[in-house]
Amino acid sequence: MTDRYAVIGNPIEQSKSPLIHTAFAQVTGQDIEYTKVLGPLGGFAQAVDAFRAAGGRGMNVTAPFKLDAFAYATDLAPSAQMAGAVNAMKFEGERVYAENFDGVGLVRDVVHNLVYPIAGKRVLVLGAGGATRGALLPMLAQLPAELVIVNRTVAKAEELAALGRQHQSGQVPVQGLGYDQLADRGFDMVFNASSSSLTAELPPIRASVFAAGALAYDLTYGKGLTPFLKLAQEAGVTHLADGVGMLAEQAAEAFLWWRGVRPDTKDVIRQLTVPLV
Ligand code: NDP
Repeated sequence: MTDRYAVIGNPIEQSKSPLIHTAFAQVTGQDIEYTKVLGPLGGFAQAVDAFRAAGGRGMNVTAPFKLDAFAYATDLAPSAQMAGAVNAMKFEGERVYAENFDGVGLVRDVVHNLVYPIAGKRVLVLGAGGATRGALLPMLAQLPAELVIVNRTVAKAEELAALGRQHQSGQVPVQGLGYDQLADRGFDMVFNASSSSLTAELPPIRASVFAAGALAYDLTYGKGLTPFLKLAQEAGVTHLADGVGMLAEQAAEAFLWWRGVRPDTKDVIRQLTVPLV
């Protein structure tokens, strides 16, 4: 019998998850159907209840429901607890197991696909929303030389930095700052985890944040050369990437968790890549 999965969000038309999981199922020979569910605002629980009642085995969760899924779950994995948000659920009888694979997906894309070790690097993360929160521990586990989080709302950067310090035993210095406190500091890896690229805006950084040989990584995907990546390119950065690999890798983690087999992501990444020109 075909097992049913879906992604729930609002809006949901733009989601690439059905394409990704259907491709994964084909290459791994898994008999699954993966669809999109438009969750009504304020009606997340009812929509998920209905999907489960119809035999659904698991769901991915996208905006604006990641916090609703956190509240809905019966069993939260440490990744979901840390992120305060859920992006994948597995249904077993009355139990709702919940994970957040965004952070591990990002780290796997950088370290494995881009072959760019985080260990020993000076890392700057722009933005202090859900994506940064999810990436925090997986990044710290790679033991960078330091991790600096900057955000428009400085208190949120400070809060995440404190959380990062709390969850490791002092090996990695972690700081939360405002953009104006960056001065002329340079970093080996700069991640744009703000949503600025969705509105084609540039976070208030200077070209000097990119040290020689730096990686510039925009978590937003499918937008081509965003203002952030353009600044990096103009500063002479040659290692540019967007979040398409992160998207594929978090999906592969969910697929492994649901089906027990990890699909290769290369073809899906190639299919979804919008050139950075
Ligand atoms: P949130 O809404 O939780 O956080 C948004 C963050 O962006 C906040 O820190 C906000 O600052 C900051 N911000 C918004 N606009 C600007 C701007 N113009 N200049 C500077 N900072 C700005 O979003 P998420 O953390 O969930 O997502 C962030 C990005 O990551 C999105 O673009 C999303 O598409 C992408 N993403 C990609 C994934 C992938 O698989 N590739 C997975 C998850 C997210 P403030 O707090 O001051 O408002």
